[in-house]
Amino acid sequence: MQVSIDPSSGFCWGVVRTVQIAEQYLADGSGRPLYVLGNIIHNPREIERLRNKGLKTITHDDIEGLAGSNGRVLIRAHGEPPATYRQAFKAGVELIDATCPVVTKLQERVRKFYNDDFQVVVFGKRDHAEVKGVRGVCNDECIVVKTVEDAMTQVDLDRPTVLFSQTTMDRPTFLAVRDALKQRISELVVDSHENIALEFHAKDTICGQVSGREDKLAAYAADNDVIIFVAGRESSNGKVLFNVAKDANPRTHFIEEIGEMQDQWFDGATKVGISGATSTPHWLMQDVRDAIEARFNLQVV
Ligand code: SF4
Repeated sequence: MQVSIDPSSGFCWGVVRTVQIAEQYLADGSGRPLYVLGNIIHNPREIERLRNKGLKTITHDDIEGLAGSNGRVLIRAHGEPPATYRQAFKAGVELIDATCPVVTKLQERVRKFYNDDFQVVVFGKRDHAEVKGVRGVCNDECIVVKTVEDAMTQVDLDRPTVLFSQTTMDRPTFLAVRDALKQRISELVVDSHENIALEFHAKDTICGQVSGREDKLAAYAADNDVIIFVAGRESSNGKVLFNVAKDANPRTHFIEEIGEMQDQWFDGATKVGISGATSTPHWLMQDVRDAIEARFNLQVV
């Protein structure tokens, strides 16, 4: 049996950047505590590694309690709504903004359309941290849709409308939502007796770090007998990529911890591949490879 690690897997650059910023502040010798607002990454093992270096996870409710302390609060790659910046400013707490630049750009674009009086539609998950940030940018007046049906029932097509996507959603569904809205608009124009000119823009803001990875992952999954997909269960991007791998190879198994692997998954397999989400650290996939090697007493390639 051959065991390999997907060469295109591992942290995306936005997450690498956030973790590097955290490590840089943790090691700056200032002795000032470093907190992060929510889990820095959707991976329990990486959270534990950074916790051991001193990074403490807090919630928004803890910010006021840091007033007067010399603690600093890191904003993670998903970003935050403007209300969080105001909350920290009022409490006199220093923020370190490690928002992924791709997310910052998305927020800026949403703000621009919102200020121009567009109806903002976001293809995403309402309670995902990144979407909460985007919702905050437009005073929570955007419409969040997850399916074509959501879009058809919730979007008011009498208004100029712009469609964006959470950066980690899947492109085929985004395109289906876009096409359904376009189709509905063209029907409205034909049906209407008035001379209406409806404005609709679709902005594909799915991150290239996620979408570019899908084709490579599908090819890698198809080229192996079994795929062990390692990610945190909370990772949105992990769920998308797992489904890509599973579609290409039904013998794809999702694990968060090494102990979840089962011997029967490997029955008759000669090629085993290990892959993960953009939040899965490379060292964890190496640990999984070592565990498979130890379990079957293999020669790892
Ligand atoms: S997946 Fe893309 S948008 Fe999300 S953190 Fe990574 S680089 Fe940034």
